[in-house]
Amino acid sequence: ELYNKVLELKGNIRVFCRCRPLNNDEVAAGASVVIDFESAKDGELSVKSNGTRKTFKFDAVFDPQAEQADVFEDTAPFATSVLDGYNVCIFAYGQTGTGKTFTMEGTEEARGVNFRTLEELFRIIKERQKQHQYSVSVSVLEVYNEQIRDLLSSGTQPGVVAKRLGIRQVGEGIHHVPGLAEADVSNMTEVWEVLQTGSNARAVGSTNANEHSSRSHCIHCVMVKGENLLTGECTRSKLWLVDLAGSERIAKTEVQGERLKETQNINRSLSALGDVISALATKSPHIPFRNSKLTHLLQDSLGGDSKTLMFVQISPNENDLSETLCSLNFASRVK
Ligand code: ADP
Ligand code: MG
Repeated sequence: ELYNKVLELKGNIRVFCRCRPLNNDEVAAGASVVIDFESAKDGELSVKSNGTRKTFKFDAVFDPQAEQADVFEDTAPFATSVLDGYNVCIFAYGQTGTGKTFTMEGTEEARGVNFRTLEELFRIIKERQKQHQYSVSVSVLEVYNEQIRDLLSSGTQPGVVAKRLGIRQVGEGIHHVPGLAEADVSNMTEVWEVLQTGSNARAVGSTNANEHSSRSHCIHCVMVKGENLLTGECTRSKLWLVDLAGSERIAKTEVQGERLKETQNINRSLSALGDVISALATKSPHIPFRNSKLTHLLQDSLGGDSKTLMFVQISPNENDLSETLCSLNFASRVK
């Protein structure tokens, strides 16, 4: 209850900042750390830059020692919101290599937000089963070069060009992707299978899977239908889990051809997302949803009484300082 009040006050947008640890190579190379987490408990961090200090404040700050379970403790209330009928978007934003995929997908030993949120959904569904009946389905898609690709449909075998999907408005505030596969799931075994299928399909057809995943947005959409068995009241809600393309700036002079188009599309969609969220935060009368496929796709779930959580992922390494400042500034703009 208290949590929902806090969300309302903040216009339903929350920003969490998470910093990855230095990796072994960086430690071996004697990398310097430029982030100070002394006030992390108060949602603050400071960055040492050219002898000055810049302080940033967020709804939560997770230092490099924070574990997946710590992060999820603050994320879990969003699962309750979904079952209460709210649309929710959870994003991971940041430079490639800062832990976006680690936070969202995680690993088998250290499961991330995607898995844990679904686990929490099923836990609450069970807890509420005397009064509520829910059905859950999942879609997995990718936005690459302003094109939507279905990662669950069978058209994603090697060499097969997946069909292009479009976005259609089917009613007031209802957008739909015709033809997108939806897998019904009723337990975590089924969820895990779907997540694996999506993540395997993502690598297919690209020569460098890591590079491809840093250049595309990977999106899970969880659709929940609920019925209150006592009142007959029905709810429909969506939970979007988005592992965004890397936010690093690539100089246009460094790339050409296909790669240049890719870079322009990533810049366009990330800045469109920033524009939409900051327009929502400042209650602007015009919200520019149509400027990118990503924001168009998420339109129903951004704004209104939807809830948004943005993870801003950063590196502690001095070598990444300028990208870190860009990400922190982006995050401050959407608050
Ligand atoms: P991104 O998706 O932003 O490119 P990754 O999630 O792939 O970044 O993370 C890069 C590397 O850093 C991976 O090997 C990942 O396991 C590791 N890593 C990231 N964040 C953490 C963390 N908080 N704790 C431990 N390892 C992390
Ligand atoms: Mg990644």
